[in-house]
Amino acid sequence: MHPFQYERARNAKNAVSTVAQNPTATFIAGGTSHVDLMKENVHRPDLVVDISGLPLQSIGGHDGGIRIGANVSNTQVAYHPDIVARYPGLSEAILAGASAQIRNMATTAGNPLQRTRCPYFRDTTQACNKREPGTGCAALTGINRVHAIFGASEACVATHPSDMAVALSALDAIVQTRGPRGNRSIPFTDFHRLPGNMPQLDTVLQQGELITSIDLPAFSGRSHYLKARDRASYAFALVSCAIALEMNGGTIRRARIALGGVAHKPWRTPEAEAMLVGKTPSEVLFRDVARAAFAHAKPLEHNAYKVPLGQNLMVRALMETSGLLPLQGTPGTAFASSAGSVAGIIPLSA
Ligand code: SF4
Repeated sequence: MHPFQYERARNAKNAVSTVAQNPTATFIAGGTSHVDLMKENVHRPDLVVDISGLPLQSIGGHDGGIRIGANVSNTQVAYHPDIVARYPGLSEAILAGASAQIRNMATTAGNPLQRTRCPYFRDTTQACNKREPGTGCAALTGINRVHAIFGASEACVATHPSDMAVALSALDAIVQTRGPRGNRSIPFTDFHRLPGNMPQLDTVLQQGELITSIDLPAFSGRSHYLKARDRASYAFALVSCAIALEMNGGTIRRARIALGGVAHKPWRTPEAEAMLVGKTPSEVLFRDVARAAFAHAKPLEHNAYKVPLGQNLMVRALMETSGLLPLQGTPGTAFASSAGSVAGIIPLSA
């Protein structure tokens, strides 16, 4: 591990100024992902500023929605009664990720800042433009089974690993920050970047810019999250799908769909979302929507399976959210399937 200095932040202003002035400094809170990367020599900060003691631990009503402080743990969010009642898709997404022990330590700001689980990123003997810009991408010609099918570049084909971020994207959350040049409100859909020719940058955050909270806008519809993975627990999504539906009687007034495990950021599907507006839920409609959502997918050598898997998962998520199929699990719990079982339940090719 690279040697580093450790400081406890006295307040947010001091933390921002310290990290902004030192390009090799970083914030740390729960540390559930960051410390692993430091131990693996992937992250090599010279200075670590611990923000876990800052008063960013409240969760409560804000503008008709809910404001979640940056340091609120994933467990607290997932089981908060207002989240379970009003945003169950977010609760389901958090509970579909990691273990209880990790969720107890991981924070609201830290979860969306997780770095990719591309195995070449974490192996310092391999070429990786995200870890060492300009060295190449071992995944392009290597085993790319878990990599992106949307929005990738020649420089990087990694996917974002967070489940929580996918639900936040579908809920149009807002990231509130405090930076060296003041405060910012960043729509969650703009928060993560596509790799382009700078895959080392995962988000639009500037050096020293601190997330202070994540806001959930007012929402009175139904939300839901489904995840397909290689085994039934403690695995990252091969594909996941978050849905937020607002109904007007028997028709869909507004729909938002975000996919996980398919791109460098939670992947919204505006064309598919628009196809749902004003329509009555039906399996035929949802199959058409799923086909449209994946029409522009560009699979790599080993991950073409993500297209039918993702289509089937989306159909099932829409069926369950709209009430055409019973929900798998209840609010405050998580349901995730192995890839094989999802593909078998509602085969799109049928
Ligand atoms: Fe690195 Fe991205 Fe290539 Fe993975 S896909 S090896 S993270 S550049």
